[in-house]
This record gives sequence, C-alpha cells and structure tokens, in this order.
Amino acid sequence: MVQKMISKEKISDLIKELQKEFKVFGPVKEEGVVLFKEITDAKEICLDYSNSKIPAKSVLFPMIDTLFSYKKEGKGVKIIENPPYEKTVIFGIRPCDSMGFSLFKNFFSFGKYKDPHVLNRLKNITIIGMGCLEPRTTCFCTSVNGGPFNKESVDVLITEFKDNYYLESITDKGEALIKKIKSITDADKGDLAKIEKLQKDIESAIPVIEGLVSIYTKLDGLFDHPMWKMESQGCIGCGACTYLCPTCHCFDVLEENKQDGSGRRIRIWDTCQFPLFTLETSGHNPRTTKLPRVRQRIYHKFNYYPKNYNIIGCVGCGRCIINCPVSSDIRNIFLSVENMSFKTEG
Ligand code: SF4
Ligand code: SF4
Repeated sequence: MVQKMISKEKISDLIKELQKEFKVFGPVKEEGVVLFKEITDAKEICLDYSNSKIPAKSVLFPMIDTLFSYKKEGKGVKIIENPPYEKTVIFGIRPCDSMGFSLFKNFFSFGKYKDPHVLNRLKNITIIGMGCLEPRTTCFCTSVNGGPFNKESVDVLITEFKDNYYLESITDKGEALIKKIKSITDADKGDLAKIEKLQKDIESAIPVIEGLVSIYTKLDGLFDHPMWKMESQGCIGCGACTYLCPTCHCFDVLEENKQDGSGRRIRIWDTCQFPLFTLETSGHNPRTTKLPRVRQRIYHKFNYYPKNYNIIGCVGCGRCIINCPVSSDIRNIFLSVENMSFKTEG
C-alpha cells in the first residue's frame, strides 16, 4: 500500500498529470447539477459535493451508447466497429457508486454472454474514489455491505483532511498509478491515525437498517401482499428512481438510420417503471399497472439479485429517495417488510 498526500490547491496539477496518460472523468457542476463528465479543463472539477445527481455509471454505461455503426457499400452493408476504448481514470467517485460498478461487472459478464462494451471499459478504467465526509440523511450504504470509505471497488481512495487530500492505493493498478504521479508527496504520518479515526466516526454515525442484506428471505413470502398496492399508489412512473440509480442497468436497443443508408445501433437506458418496458410484440403486457412495476424494482434488487448472483442490487446511495417527485422512500418498504409475516397460499 502506498500513502501519499497533495494540498487542495494543487489538485489541478494532479488532474493535468493524469490527463497526459488518461482520459479523466470527474464530477462537474452544470446548471446546478453535479454529474460525471470528461474533464477538459482541470479547473472545472467540482469536489465540493455530497454525491452527483447522475451517477458515474454514465461513464461505464452511457445513456446513449453506440454499439457499432454501419454504412452502405455497393449492395452490402459495412459494419464499423467502435475505436478501442482509451485508458480512463474516474476521479472523485463516491465508494457507493463504485460498488455499483461491481454489479455491472457481474451482470455484463455472467454466464455465456459477455458484453464487450462494458467489459472493455471496465478493463481500461482506474477508479480513484473519494471518501464521503458528510453522508446525507438518505444514505444507507452501511446497511448494504458498503461504507463512506469503503475500499472494495476502488483502485485508490482519497480522503479529504484539513487542507490536503490523502491518497491510499488499494489495488496493484492503483499503486502503479500513484507511483507515477509527481505532484503528490509522502503522507504526513502524524495525520494517518487521525484520518482513520475520522473515517470510523463518520461511518458509525450512519444509521444501520438491520437485516437489509438478508431481506430477500422475507420478500419470498410477500409477493401478493396488500402493501404493494399502498406503496405503488403515489408513484407517477417517472422512472427517476431507476435512471438515477447507480446499479440499474436495463436498456433498449435501437437503430438510428440516416437517409443515405448509414447509421448506428445504439443502446439506451430504459426503466422497468415504464409500461412499455414489458410490452411484448404479441400485444400482451405482463406489467400493465403500477403495482407490479413498483414491486419489480424492489424484488429485482433485494430478492432476485441476491438469489441469482449472491449480490445485493442496491448500494444505499439514497438517490431514489431524494429524487422521487412524490417522496417515495424505499426505506419505508424495508421497514414494512421487516414487520410483515404474510404468506401466500400454497
Ligand atoms: S435503489 Fe435507491 S438507494 Fe439503492 S442504489 Fe438505487 S438509487 Fe441508490
Ligand atoms: S421516482 Fe418515485 S414516482 Fe418516479 S417512478 Fe420512482 S417511485 Fe415512482
């Protein structure tokens, strides 16, 4: 493990150094919204944020992703593959959101079918995570195996302390990266014990929802419970809870054609909260009403995912709570489930 530090005022130097070898994505504030974008000017990076509104999954799994392009050639069609994915650093991502990347890796490489787009990006991305000094009241990362300084899914972890940022390598990839950066110096050993205490204090202040990781066992018997009617009544089906979720990965595939016969095949974000999502070509739709759609979101994350992949489909970032226009709070569902003992017949 390598431990280094850099003063806050030199962070632009660090970004510029990284840019010599990598494409650097980081949090940027645009019209009041923090989102992850490629940093072109080191000064635009915004590290004074609780969490981005749009998660950094947009780097790994863009909202509109070109799978390949094509053009007419004589009587045939020429397929044009994407250029190779460049070496990339994601800088300043919160540990909860990088945990979401593990889920993407799992989903897009599970079984027989491997997704080259997501997997190539993952291979070329180095993650420099930034610990969370001020978790929001809606955060529950510690209830789903995470934490504000969780090291599981980052290559380097940065912790802000007084006028400095402390960098700690977590993986070999992270160590190799840190060793190359000239603008950082050795960590002040006197601060390291204080930083560790700070991290523990912040983590222990986040309320824990007991038993959330094993809630799938309880959900097994609650599929037809009347609570889903109540929970889905207010939902307006806007999809914000899924689009902004760092673990949601549903997509649709479309062709974008031009008149000259050229075009591209794209993959776009989709959501299980829209009625069209499950509309079959026969005209049949197994989820025509809000109730099964709202229930699906919860079961997918907290029942099917843990059972199929042994991983929980939520990192506790709280975005679905903050951004729901009708103030639906997923934590209320957990509390209801904890108190339920309903069983379906048979
Ligand atoms: S379900 Fe909600 S709290 Fe969990 S990861 Fe998604 S947006 Fe965050
Ligand atoms: S954000 Fe709220 S209103 Fe919108 S689909 Fe999700 S639960 Fe329904």
